[in-house]
Amino acid sequence: MGLESEPKEHRVPVRTGDIHKAIATTANALYDLLDEALMSHEPHDADEDCQFEEFAREMLRVLGSYPDQLTVSEEDAE
Ligand SMILES: [Zn+2]
Repeated sequence: MGLESEPKEHRVPVRTGDIHKAIATTANALYDLLDEALMSHEPHDADEDCQFEEFAREMLRVLGSYPDQLTVSEEDAE
């Protein structure tokens, strides 16, 4: 485990009948993935257009603006 040559797997398991819980789980996973992707993003010139960075930062901003929507209530947890 942890070898650089090993392909990394990104899994977003969502198994629920509650659509809001499914959205919260998916949004949390997306937040973590975007955050991770930005961290490992190759640096380049600041004036270089980068649609990915724009997209990632905007998504993180939006997701971060609605913490209540990203919260999976404990009583619903299996
Ligand atoms: Zn970039």
